[in-house]
Amino acid sequence: MAESALFGMDTPALTALMQSLGQPRYRAAQLAAALYRQRAASLDEIATLPIALRGQLIAAGYGVGLPILAQTATSVDGTERYLVQLADGETVETVWMPDGDLPEPDVDLRDRDSRPFKRATICVSSQVGCAVNCHFCLTAKLGIRRNLTPGEIAGQVAAVLTRHQVEVAAGGNPDRINLVFMGMGEPFLNYDAFMQAFRILSAEMGISPARMTVSTSGIEPAIRRFALEPIRPRLALSLNASNDTIRAEIMPITRKWNIASLLEALRTIPFGKREYVTFEYVLLGGINDQPEHAREVLALLKGMNAKVNLIVWNPGPGIDYHQPTPEAVDRFHKLLIAGGIPTFTRRPRGRDIYAACGQLKRTIETELVQLA
Ligand code: SF4
Repeated sequence: MAESALFGMDTPALTALMQSLGQPRYRAAQLAAALYRQRAASLDEIATLPIALRGQLIAAGYGVGLPILAQTATSVDGTERYLVQLADGETVETVWMPDGDLPEPDVDLRDRDSRPFKRATICVSSQVGCAVNCHFCLTAKLGIRRNLTPGEIAGQVAAVLTRHQVEVAAGGNPDRINLVFMGMGEPFLNYDAFMQAFRILSAEMGISPARMTVSTSGIEPAIRRFALEPIRPRLALSLNASNDTIRAEIMPITRKWNIASLLEALRTIPFGKREYVTFEYVLLGGINDQPEHAREVLALLKGMNAKVNLIVWNPGPGIDYHQPTPEAVDRFHKLLIAGGIPTFTRRPRGRDIYAACGQLKRTIETELVQLA
């Protein structure tokens, strides 16, 4: 019988479970603290619970159920890519991107213990594979295998924080950690599980909602649901084109929900005064990187509190696009800035280990190193 995972259950659910086992309510608080603050890997490690209760939980089929970082690859830039093993044998990928100052020249980047970080971003997956089929993305080649559960989504974060010994809630500095839900999968096609994971990460693990960003390829009905959430992460729309014709060519989902309908849905979100909506824009050489495209983007975003992240497309095997030239990237960037849109050109991370944006594909496992 497959074990039922405790990780992923929020305090009300844990309280109901304790009550069903005839236990007092405070046991749920102890269990939540062990799961989400101490990040216990097994029931044996939860010394605050009596041995008899731990036995009761095991007899009822429960275990902690954290995903396991089965393999890792480390980039020369310090990025780490993990193959994360789930209970049923499926795998997803999670990426750790330390953002701190450049290390001293004599620090070996492949020795993680000698590499301090000031801030770090964790890129989290939401599905095994993806159904959206963006043509520039390696993950798309997998198709969709299944949705992740809330515990599997939040559990990737817990496992990576434990590996890097980051204390988020107890005396640590949560400001150092940002989460981006931009890994494998489309979070808004697994909406309920994603939002439950978000609540676990914020309410139970103490990570600020302002430090989490979910990226969608543009699932219009889910954006409208998202607009009604009382507490939500930041939102990024993966725009990637300046008009529907180009977008439909590289992102067929545009035929279902076009750019105008997505922008209209975004306008229903009650953004805070200082909150930007981020537009991700993957630059593909000769396709969407010309000055007329930049001008079209400016026209689309007029009047919105928008910022743009430009991403230089990362090549991948079997994908027939070209990288934009540095001149085209620079020109595009400057045109958006001149048009009044805060624009950032994202530094490519982990390109040598296929961890960069759009490159997560779990079948490229040969160069991964088995974790001890
Ligand atoms: S870019 Fe994102 S939404 Fe598009 S296929 Fe890849 S994982 Fe799915």
